[in-house]
Amino acid sequence: MADKPILTTTAGAPVPDNQNSWTAGERGPVLLQDYQLIEKLAHQNRERIPERVVHAKGWGAHGTLKITGDISKYTKAKVLQPGAETPMIARFSTVAGEAGAADAERDVRGFSLKFYTDEGNWDLVGNNTPVFFVRDAYKFPDFIHTQKRHPKTNMRSPTAMWDFWSLSPESLHQVTILMSDRGIPVSPAHMNGYGSHTFSFWNDAGERYWVKFHFKTQQGHKHFTNEEADAVIGKTRESYQEALYGGIEKGEFPRWTVQVQIMPELDAEKTTYNPFDLTKVWPHSEYPPIEIGVLELNRNPENYFAEIENAAFSPSNIVPGIGFSPDKMLQARVFSYADAHRHRLGTHYENIPVNRPKHEIHHYHRDGQMNTYGGIRTGNPDAYYEPNSVNGPVEQPSAKEPPLRIHGDADRYNHRVGNDDYGQVTALFNLFDAGQKQRLFANIAAAMSGIPEEIAERQLAHFGRVHADYEAGVRAARKTLTGREPAISVTLETPQQAAE
Ligand code: NDP
Repeated sequence: MADKPILTTTAGAPVPDNQNSWTAGERGPVLLQDYQLIEKLAHQNRERIPERVVHAKGWGAHGTLKITGDISKYTKAKVLQPGAETPMIARFSTVAGEAGAADAERDVRGFSLKFYTDEGNWDLVGNNTPVFFVRDAYKFPDFIHTQKRHPKTNMRSPTAMWDFWSLSPESLHQVTILMSDRGIPVSPAHMNGYGSHTFSFWNDAGERYWVKFHFKTQQGHKHFTNEEADAVIGKTRESYQEALYGGIEKGEFPRWTVQVQIMPELDAEKTTYNPFDLTKVWPHSEYPPIEIGVLELNRNPENYFAEIENAAFSPSNIVPGIGFSPDKMLQARVFSYADAHRHRLGTHYENIPVNRPKHEIHHYHRDGQMNTYGGIRTGNPDAYYEPNSVNGPVEQPSAKEPPLRIHGDADRYNHRVGNDDYGQVTALFNLFDAGQKQRLFANIAAAMSGIPEEIAERQLAHFGRVHADYEAGVRAARKTLTGREPAISVTLETPQQAAE
């Protein structure tokens, strides 16, 4: 038998006994000098890091992005040039549940990707839906609070959810997708991913294009009904981990077709909708998806904590040829995601191996907790400020993106005025067949159970503005569920109506 390695303290000294405490006499109390025992207990207390406020329950794997199409006229990003193959990691998640929540719950799924490109890490922090519940980041923390536990009951509150949604008509598009069949995918492999936000491309000529990213499942869409999901959760809370991890272990590598929609810069002034509004899609008939490659997941992490829990995705991570857009939610997430990781993982979260770029990096950040790379990263101990005359790292002007065209007065513009929150939901509703509509109505009726009638009525009025059949269908489904008509019927003004 091969010699076993010696067990050591974290400081490297051999551990003489890993079974018996150091005590005063055979039956006596433990000595404070049994430092190795104290060290073990103290480490145990620190094994958990703060869980993500949202997207706490996740599943992930490593893979590859292969580019087969040619969009070089739109972007200079090396990762997107024909033939490029880039290692990457993906993390999928539910939004609301805590780290121990069941996987097969009705919720939006996070779809986060980190591409280790030669020009730096590029992160796309998307969802399995192309839109979101809110369009102004002032409402981001409020919305998330409605998804988490009530401060007094410590239970989730359908009343809070529908109160907020019914007062925020911009949520209707996402709520409809959430309550549709796509609200409970069978596994991460059986759902699409969307970059959701509008980003930009820029090319060597300094021209900017707006872009949306789509990842279409090659495994096909598969979803659970509420009843099927209840049965799965009754048997296992880890159905996604089992499916993703188990599938990859068996050599079944999930794949997604990568598509982009591209909008010339000045078109943004002509569209009937705001193309930077996260509650809207760009209709395919106007901006057809262009196929550019394949994303494949083909390697499980060796250690879940190190590679998936520690993975820190942020839309702030872009590379030359890819830029942001005026999307208000994107602007906010550029700050808030990186900041969440500073809080959750520490100042040097980008130095954790799963987050570290694969090529050499140079910067002038100094010191701080858990600085494990020996001080500044300039390759020269005298180069700890910039500019310097000791050949420290310098900027690369070619990485400067073209100017972002903006206009208008600085103000707080009411985003609910003149914004059609219903038309695109009608287009979606009209895509559903009769069975999909019935399940949509039933899912909404079930989710509305027990909420005050005035809130239900306010929400039903929104459904009515999408399509008369939508409102009638949900009313009928509620009646079937409760066996009675709602007790009171009032039509309340929405913020949009009040503003008009
Ligand atoms: P299209 O008919 O060209 O596209 C419809 C899209 O809807 C397809 O991409 C399809 O996805 C997707 N879809 C089908 N069922 C659902 C569902 N239950 N939940 C979410 N998406 C679904 O029409 P338009 O481009 O004009 O869009 C019409 C509506 O479709 C939009 O208002 C929006 O609600 C929805 N949609 C549009 C997308 C876009 O980028 N234009 C993207 C996703 C949804 P798949 O290809 O996987 O079958």
